[in-house]
Amino acid sequence: MYTVNFPGLANQYRADFPILSQNINGHPLVYLDNAASTQRPTAVIEELARYYREDHANVHRGLHTLSNRATALFEKARASVARYLNAKQAESIVFTRGTTEGINLVAESWGTQNLRRGDLVVLTEMEHHANLIPWQIAARKTGAILRFLPIQGDTGEIEWNELEELCRQGNVRMIALTHISNSLGCINPIKYVCQTAKKYGAVTLIDAAQSAGHAPLDVEDIGCDFLAFSSHKSCGPTGIGVLYGRKELLDSMEPYQTGGEMIVSVDWNEAKWKPAPHRFEAGTPHIAGAVGLAKALEYLESIGRHRIEESDHFFGLAAAERLRELPKMRLLGPAADRAGIVSFQLGSIHAHDLVAFADQYGIALRGGHHCNQPLMRKLGLMSSARASFYFYNTEAEIDRLVSVLRDAAKYFGE
Ligand SMILES: *Cc1c(COP(=O)(O)O)cnc(C)c1O
Repeated sequence: MYTVNFPGLANQYRADFPILSQNINGHPLVYLDNAASTQRPTAVIEELARYYREDHANVHRGLHTLSNRATALFEKARASVARYLNAKQAESIVFTRGTTEGINLVAESWGTQNLRRGDLVVLTEMEHHANLIPWQIAARKTGAILRFLPIQGDTGEIEWNELEELCRQGNVRMIALTHISNSLGCINPIKYVCQTAKKYGAVTLIDAAQSAGHAPLDVEDIGCDFLAFSSHKSCGPTGIGVLYGRKELLDSMEPYQTGGEMIVSVDWNEAKWKPAPHRFEAGTPHIAGAVGLAKALEYLESIGRHRIEESDHFFGLAAAERLRELPKMRLLGPAADRAGIVSFQLGSIHAHDLVAFADQYGIALRGGHHCNQPLMRKLGLMSSARASFYFYNTEAEIDRLVSVLRDAAKYFGE
């Protein structure tokens, strides 16, 4: 039926996600909002409960057994994340609240210390607000200038050789870009970007919010300086995320927040910071979150990230093929080589109306600007509807989506 074959991971893994087997508005839930947040497998939910039931105390300063146990679990989680990203050392891993906090940390700490008047910060036109606004503020504080690699219309493709042009012309100090676009579903050539950046002495930051739980990621191979992701988009708990940074860079940066846990010594008038990563983890961290995240990454590894990537590829292409059958369908994103994210505009139906209609039939979509307001404006859209898939989705759910959208078109007179 499709030009790609269903990899069938749902047959094996869907049952691990108890939340998926419920009815919403009298219909079986079809959860297609995975780009906003994925669901969690039982293994992660149980690990969180187990941690609180058996091992919880505050970390680091404790001399008692439970505190030592919690500290060991927290630091073991850090080592697990390092392995997951193929980072050379666990000290490169900073626990944050999520992608947003990771990028804010870099823009505020690295940015305000290193950017000078006239320096260029290069972003793309498809960045999430989380990888745009922190740089606007860093630019305002330092006099640096933001430059955007333009996208080519609805496909979202970028002329990547324009990056080298920019690097040749100006003093590019930072290139920060998303790996996978949360609204267009395109996959950017981050390794090429990092290699180019290196040639011109620029620092790189990868927003891996949409890729960390979906595809193999190897920071050594990519050659990036920073990379940020969120646990909740990768089968883990909410409220925790990861910033990877090259250790020398992290150690050269001033803390982003200050307080307990991050100091070596404090006097009335001054304090000395610990080395990275602890200088960036002021206050009591989300210990349970880190433990849960480590479990989530272990779960994803047990499936195999190559297989998840292949599954995303299927859903992106198959859903696009089927949605294209609908009259007045405007699909965003590339024709080939796409992630499991499909955004669209159906006739003149407002995305919010479409999402509310689909919800009546148990389908969870997202409609809006997807935290990409300037991008939507460039495409001449106020908003778009988005279906985003994960390995636990089924082929039948694509059929269900298409059939409900067909009904919506009729209902709204398209
Ligand atoms: C979701 C998302 C973010 C922000 O992640 P939070 O978990 O909300 O901090 C940043 N970039 C992209 C591409 C995203 O999809």
